[in-house]
Amino acid sequence: MATLLEVKNLVKHYRSGKSRVHAVNGVSLELTKGEVLGVVGESGCGKTTLGLLITRLVKSDSGDIVFEGNDITHLSQRTLRPLRAKIQMIFQDPYASLNPRMRAGEIIEEPLIIHKRGNTHQRHDQVMELLDLVGLSPNDYNKYPHEFSGGQRQRIGIARAIALKPDLIIADEPVSALDVSIQGEIINLLKNLQKKFNLTYIFISHDLKVVSQISDRIAVMYLGKIVELFPAEKLSFARHPYTQALLTSVPLPDPKRKKEYKPLGGDVPSPVQLPTGCLFHPRCPYREEVCVNVEPQLESHGPNDLASCHLTHKVPKEIPI
Ligand code: SF4
Repeated sequence: MATLLEVKNLVKHYRSGKSRVHAVNGVSLELTKGEVLGVVGESGCGKTTLGLLITRLVKSDSGDIVFEGNDITHLSQRTLRPLRAKIQMIFQDPYASLNPRMRAGEIIEEPLIIHKRGNTHQRHDQVMELLDLVGLSPNDYNKYPHEFSGGQRQRIGIARAIALKPDLIIADEPVSALDVSIQGEIINLLKNLQKKFNLTYIFISHDLKVVSQISDRIAVMYLGKIVELFPAEKLSFARHPYTQALLTSVPLPDPKRKKEYKPLGGDVPSPVQLPTGCLFHPRCPYREEVCVNVEPQLESHGPNDLASCHLTHKVPKEIPI
């Protein structure tokens, strides 16, 4: 399979007064065409910043972003313009991401106009086709965002994102602002579109259950780093204590879990002052002295299966899900 995206040792720190916030701290990953990579972690783990760095909406401090074989890390905004059509984003908040003064049809058509695709008649037909593809009706063309429900607004955002037939879509928490019943519908829509057009997604969410419903592989981030990267079908065999803690925090009525697995305690440490050794050690129930002093590196545990933990032999082999 062809590699679409390669991210190498990407770093982004923000200045906050005299302090330095370690938002993304050396992330490397590869994505093949037609693949769905889920990126999961608690709030503040750097997953949204990672998405913004890959789209070049935010500039990295160091590291490389190679897209379709071309290094795009340092391209100027002008040179980046054609690339903007190839990488699109779906945002978390469908209320905030749509211009309230534009009609749905105009919102979906806007990227086609910016990138000079087709004439007025062709663009109109294409918008009608896109409305149908995302499950909206032709009558919705002339409606304003406030006339739609949250789920319908996210359908408009999705139609806009796929209008230019992008190679990569970065969906940042695309369902977290929606009711649970609607979340499933939007995930199914994204899955169907992915299959139909062989789209490639980076699907960012704080919710491991949501991520596992759509992803081929899952990257787990903690304090700006990937701590585990594995095939989604091996979810219950995740070996990093943080991933296991995220898994066991999914509310399922399984009394066995309460006895065997310790819930994730405490808050994520400040990204200004990172812990020594393993970033997860202040919250890890398995930690030993080595964890406090030596930073574990991502190590291979099988094909497409990486984890950074000194003591994977100590953690449960399988978490029932
Ligand atoms: Fe826990 Fe140690 Fe593994 Fe870090 S290296 S996750 S502290 S067991």
